[in-house]
Amino acid sequence: MILHIDMDAFFASIEEAVNPRLKGRPLIIGARASRMNTVVCAANYPAKALGIHSGMPTRRAYSIYSKLEFLPADQAKYIWTSGQILELLKGYNLPLNYSSIDEFQMDLSGYPGQNPVSLSKEIRAQIYANFNITASIGIAKNWLLAKLASKLNKPDGVALIDDSNFEQALRKASLDKLSGMGGNYGRELTARGIKTCWDLYLNLPGFFDDKPGKFEENPGKSGEMPKSISHSYTLKRASLNPEVIESWIRLLSEMIGSRLREQNLTSRTTHLWLDKPETGCSGAQKTCHIETNDGYEIYRRAVKLMPRIWPKMAKIRAIGVSCGGISRAVYQPLLQEDLRRKGLVYALDKINNRFGEGAIFPAITSLAR
Ligand SMILES: [Mg+2]
Repeated sequence: MILHIDMDAFFASIEEAVNPRLKGRPLIIGARASRMNTVVCAANYPAKALGIHSGMPTRRAYSIYSKLEFLPADQAKYIWTSGQILELLKGYNLPLNYSSIDEFQMDLSGYPGQNPVSLSKEIRAQIYANFNITASIGIAKNWLLAKLASKLNKPDGVALIDDSNFEQALRKASLDKLSGMGGNYGRELTARGIKTCWDLYLNLPGFFDDKPGKFEENPGKSGEMPKSISHSYTLKRASLNPEVIESWIRLLSEMIGSRLREQNLTSRTTHLWLDKPETGCSGAQKTCHIETNDGYEIYRRAVKLMPRIWPKMAKIRAIGVSCGGISRAVYQPLLQEDLRRKGLVYALDKINNRFGEGAIFPAITSLAR
């Protein structure tokens, strides 16, 4: 059996846990700080009950209910809590999959001694006791059904789908509850009369079979990872021009981003060094809570370090960017905007892989070419 553990309204629940005054009031978390000019990236259950959902412009949410509580997303807090929940789950020593920031899966197949229902109860109690937030758990023979099951008794519930209630559970579940069916594909099927998961099963009986999922046998250990990834360049002639220096930083950052993505890695620490013929080499670094493998973000972080190591006009001869604090990329970006940016970056990688490195590149780097 697979357990799919899904936190209920994760970002909003964390904010409520920190500030109990918010509990029970309709609350939205905005992707950006400007209350009226962003999109909802999470809504708590009282807000959902009013028809407010993530992805909705906040202006529209306020037109539904003007007294909404609002907080801007605090990604570092959510990532930290997610990491702590992961640590708690690792303690059970069962094959584990960290499938997104608020979803985890456990595989009990090789552990007949584990009772999935009582284990689910225990895990939910532990999460509540440690983080003051609730989780819903679905139990089924594969991840797809387990994920579906986790939605059946949301929030704060457990549901099991097995042979005895398979038809009943699938009849009750609308198609959009099924992973991958929330978008256009699902809408197209619905338009063709496939409205519930049971309708889908009748049309495609094999759809719900063989969804083994990806589990790490030993979630505590991770494979060999580089300590850092760096690129540097020595200019043909020492330069004073900040635009030239910055465009080189951008190009080096893009090269590092592309190498991180190739290996499915992310970095939290950015190091920039500049070599000045007159005064020698100096460098600075900063570690952020949020990991990245986006060349533009690495560049932004590196450029912020410039005033610290290049206070006065001094000629620069060589430039280096290095990314440390490396870890495996485990989940999608949290905010819609970041998700769109990720789509763009991966599309650029595809073009460059197909047509050769540098087939397409940010315009600013042409200064460095
Ligand atoms: Mg969730």
